[in-house]
Amino acid sequence: MYAEFDLVVPETLAEALEAMAAGGSTLALAGGTNLIVDLRGRRVDPDRLVGLDRLAELRGIRANGGIELGARTTVTDLLRSADIAAAAPSLVESARSFAGQMVRNTATVAGNIACGSPAADLVPPLLVLDAEVTLASRTGTRTVALCDYYLGYKKDVRRPDELITAISLPRRPQRAYNRFYKLARRHGDAITVTGVAVTIAAEEGRCSLARIALAAVAPVPLRARRSEAMLEGKALTPALISEAAAQAAAESSPIDDVRASAGYRRKMVEVLTRRLLSEAWQSLH
Ligand SMILES: Cc1cc2nc3c(=O)[nH]c(=O)nc-3n(C[C@H](O)[C@H](O)[C@H](O)COP(=O)(O)OP(=O)(O)OC[C@H]3O[C@@H](n4cnc5c(N)ncnc54)[C@H](O)[C@@H]3O)c2cc1C
Repeated sequence: MYAEFDLVVPETLAEALEAMAAGGSTLALAGGTNLIVDLRGRRVDPDRLVGLDRLAELRGIRANGGIELGARTTVTDLLRSADIAAAAPSLVESARSFAGQMVRNTATVAGNIACGSPAADLVPPLLVLDAEVTLASRTGTRTVALCDYYLGYKKDVRRPDELITAISLPRRPQRAYNRFYKLARRHGDAITVTGVAVTIAAEEGRCSLARIALAAVAPVPLRARRSEAMLEGKALTPALISEAAAQAAAESSPIDDVRASAGYRRKMVEVLTRRLLSEAWQSLH
């Protein structure tokens, strides 16, 4: 059974932001695939839920040079979008391996970011696409780079009165490729053991931009920045890719749990980073 709470279902974003600012402990309710589980388990005990279901303006994928994802865009919406297929194959790979069909139909992009799980599957692809998060409150709107969003385990920069309203992906470089791989104990409906996403861009035979993001191997999804720096400006050889992959593993700080040991996870960061970087570089040549 649930504890008692008020449910507010606003018709407009302005009403929703008003409700988020009403004080007490207030949480947004999007697809509910995390929140309902947490309510039932009494891991959260809010005074008020603000349902986002009726806010049509928060759902949808708009190509505008870059791409803007409304906060309520679902995992299934990602899989159905030609714009996402063209610009963000890493997001498609993540969406394909996300939960099962029923959860994909309701789970939202903003809910995945806001839940703060180190294993949130949409976050590494969004990190390597340089995503920005738009946060709105009654008093205004601000934009935060996703790589600066998390402060620590389940801690982030969002104020309690703010809603995520959109996630923006900038126009990608001309010759660039992005990939994601989710290692889990099963295909579908499984929590990630190690997730790796990469973007590589090439100009005149050299790597002009490198992004590497890791999931489930640290308190938050993170960028392997020292590894990225080893690649930028260089022609990528198998030896350099191997060194960068080992560096990415060194930047992770996994723990042992029921799904895998820390050592296995660290090794998988190295293996998957090497594989994805090699495939991305080859696809550009
Ligand atoms: C069976 C099952 C399988 C799953 N499989 C996966 C998986 O493979 N990969 C994975 O990453 N996750 C998985 N999940 C977890 C979950 O589905 C995702 O994290 C999902 O993206 C959460 O989105 P939601 O819309 O359901 O969020 P909700 O449950 O509605 O909300 C989650 C949190 O985000 C907050 N929130 C939601 N929207 C906003 C907003 N716009 N602004 C501010 N805060 C907001 C809520 O207040 C809440 O704290 C699974 C869950 C279940 C039950």
